[in-house]
Amino acid sequence: MPKQKNSVLSRLPSVDRVLGWPHIGTLCVQNGRALVTEAVRAVLDDVRTEMRESDAGSNQKFSEAHIFEGVERRVALWLTPSLRPVFNLTGTVLHTNLGRALLPEEAIEAMAMAARQASNLEYDIRSGKRGERNSHIDGWVKRLTGADAAVVVNNNAAAVLLVLNTFARRREVPVSRGELIEIGGAFRLPEIMARAGCKLVEIGTTNRTHLKDYRGAITDKTALLMKVHTSNYAVSGFTASVAERQLADLGRDSDIPVVTDLGSGSLVDLTYYGLPDEPTVAGMIEAGVDLVTFSGDKLLGGPQAGIIAGRGDLIARIKKNPLLRALRCDKVTLSALNAVLTMYARPEKLIEKLPTLRLLGRSADDIECVARQVLSAVRRAVGDKYDVDVAACRSQIGSGAMPVDRLESTALRLRSTGASRGSGRALNQLAARLRALPIPVIGRINDDALWLDLRCLEGVDEFLAQIEHLESS
Ligand SMILES: *Cc1c(COP(=O)(O)O)cnc(C)c1O
Repeated sequence: MPKQKNSVLSRLPSVDRVLGWPHIGTLCVQNGRALVTEAVRAVLDDVRTEMRESDAGSNQKFSEAHIFEGVERRVALWLTPSLRPVFNLTGTVLHTNLGRALLPEEAIEAMAMAARQASNLEYDIRSGKRGERNSHIDGWVKRLTGADAAVVVNNNAAAVLLVLNTFARRREVPVSRGELIEIGGAFRLPEIMARAGCKLVEIGTTNRTHLKDYRGAITDKTALLMKVHTSNYAVSGFTASVAERQLADLGRDSDIPVVTDLGSGSLVDLTYYGLPDEPTVAGMIEAGVDLVTFSGDKLLGGPQAGIIAGRGDLIARIKKNPLLRALRCDKVTLSALNAVLTMYARPEKLIEKLPTLRLLGRSADDIECVARQVLSAVRRAVGDKYDVDVAACRSQIGSGAMPVDRLESTALRLRSTGASRGSGRALNQLAARLRALPIPVIGRINDDALWLDLRCLEGVDEFLAQIEHLESS
């Protein structure tokens, strides 16, 4: 290292010296000494690295003002909430990475109450005795699905694990090779089965599985007959699978419970709202399935949770499994789930009241109106290096619901023009600028364009306020 640079480096103040500066002292009082010390250390490290790497070895790099600003910025960043709102314009309504279902106001109020105050979470107010946390939802699940009983856990992955562990530990479960699913986020059915302690018996083929395959797999070790809703893909062409009703008959004849992992599992017939058909939990129970597992934050439109609904005697056994204690969900989730389930009492109102259904049910025309409202502002904000137009697109439901069906929607299509026409780099830069907004805007790059699918845009004014920031970025 050149001598000059070395000596510049050696003049960098020590952590203790910086902590002695009066304005850093003020930051310590306001934000806590430990946090500010960590920030000072990090900023000095950065300056040192920058100095070593830069040829110039500029003195300005570590002026007092530069260091102070760096510390202040870092402390502020650490203290802002880590979970931030974003605009989901990806075109995937139930986007797992963006938090899946948005909750209705009724649920948010219920969550705030449960968070703020003591509640009867596990307390029976009438008798003054211990109550059951499940009691806040099982009545509603029974009413809405026709099941005898229900139990709630943290998510559907936990529900599947708990069912398998309760009934099939050290025993066998035949599953069709066409249904050995992997869901995003590393939920792989064979691995969950292994962790639950049960032996997967693969039956049939990828495209065709028949009732005789299940029948042939039954031994005295068979604990459950399982079906899994192939929620994020479709096998098409020369295919065959066994309907729940048939499997339920076989289960009854062989005295083996039948379980279906429905994944999304709707509580209502979605075709009533003009949406694609998705099996309902009630349909499964009616077909004779003994246990159904499904998610709270997919088509149900509630908080993250997993629900197991079905036969009373089987649910009673699940409740005795010590694993339930490890997988149970908290009061905030239960209060939200309770609030959402009560809304299903009036299915005709759900499409307005429940954000998930409202967004899924939005028509392409309605979304096009939104596109027209924001088009000129977006055009202005992105500048003349990009061409912006309104284009038809297709939204996805997401989270594994209805993998093949798409909903007609409308997007702003942003394409680079001039010298960088069709350049992936220009599009990535634009996507990064949109993500860098105070409320990040998340789109999708496809076919040489950045698409902002407006299906999930409800706060137009808030969006326009963000877009204005783009002009100066
Ligand atoms: C989504 C899904 C799961 C996992 O549910 P989580 O609530 O995300 O844990 C399991 N099985 C199927 C079929 C699914 O679609």
